[in-house]
Amino acid sequence: VEPPPRITARSRAAWVAFAEAQGEKAYRGRQVFQWVVGRGVRDPALMTDLPRGFRESVAAAHDSTAPLARWSSDSASGTEKLLMPLSGGDAVEAVLILEPTRTTACLSSQAGCPVACRFCASGLLGLRRNLDAGEILDQFMELRQRAAGMGRRVSHIVMMGMGEPLLNYPAVVQALGAIHDPEGGGIGARHLTISTVGLEKGVERLLQDRLPYTLAFSLHAPTDELRRSLIPFEGALDIAGLVGAARRYLEVKGREVTFEYVLLHEVNDRPEHARALVARLRGVRATVNLIPYNENPGLPFGRPPPADIDAFAASLRAGGLKVTVRKRKGHRILAACGQLRLQSLPDGEAAVQPPLAGLP
Ligand code: SF4
Repeated sequence: VEPPPRITARSRAAWVAFAEAQGEKAYRGRQVFQWVVGRGVRDPALMTDLPRGFRESVAAAHDSTAPLARWSSDSASGTEKLLMPLSGGDAVEAVLILEPTRTTACLSSQAGCPVACRFCASGLLGLRRNLDAGEILDQFMELRQRAAGMGRRVSHIVMMGMGEPLLNYPAVVQALGAIHDPEGGGIGARHLTISTVGLEKGVERLLQDRLPYTLAFSLHAPTDELRRSLIPFEGALDIAGLVGAARRYLEVKGREVTFEYVLLHEVNDRPEHARALVARLRGVRATVNLIPYNENPGLPFGRPPPADIDAFAASLRAGGLKVTVRKRKGHRILAACGQLRLQSLPDGEAAVQPPLAGLP
């Protein structure tokens, strides 16, 4: 017997259809959506403005338990990491990043990741499975509740946790739709970012579906050769493809994309890399976001010293590029960018240990 779907797994339209199938008016379905996604109430018994019979049908057809959240905090840098077990024994991580002017939720779209970037802990195991929309929304709701407990509202969402979001397009788009929906999470589209290595079909689909989200491309190298050695994934666009997609995004949406560039010491952080990057991106309207690498136990890459980071950024700016440098946050609890991994739960259950053999 299939377990019932999680109560977070239905879109607003699917709630309307559910209500109608139960002989209720469409707006009853919307009310459930508002309770669950808008107010974070999963228990149908608490949805007091619904008829009792309908509440009972909702309860009978759904799993309305909250996920078993485990937290680690790094209060020095303002980071809270969520470890959320999934059915089937895996677990994913998500991170709340507290800054003076914004509160960002970094969500995962897959358990593990098939892209296997050489420097990333999430890719070590390969793909375990796609998350469904409810499991992505569960992360958002847990982080939102955590933020509320600290007197904060989640203002930004980045799909930058574990997984390549465009390889799980329907679930990601459904979850972001619910987070964006004024009756759901109510977060503006410009504050919702999809970060991708750049998959031709996925980017095309985003354009065709006219989705208003912000796009970030993982670039990480100024040449295709170096990029392929860091991101050995067949389906990723090459640099010319990314630049073309960035131009199209600007044309169609009027929005600039961000190029993410993880700075790996002595791999892609040398002056010649900066010069090559300036030459490659000259004339492209976009921002380059430099992410000084956060070291991972077991991975052979280092973080550049601060002077090298500054020099790299200065040289891009001198070449006319717009540059931001990511501040270091959460690395003490392995919650920083590229450090999320499937790991053992604190009590040792459902342990999924990443194999460290066979790495570069
Ligand atoms: S950096 Fe992103 S795309 Fe690359 S392996 Fe890690 S999670 Fe996957």
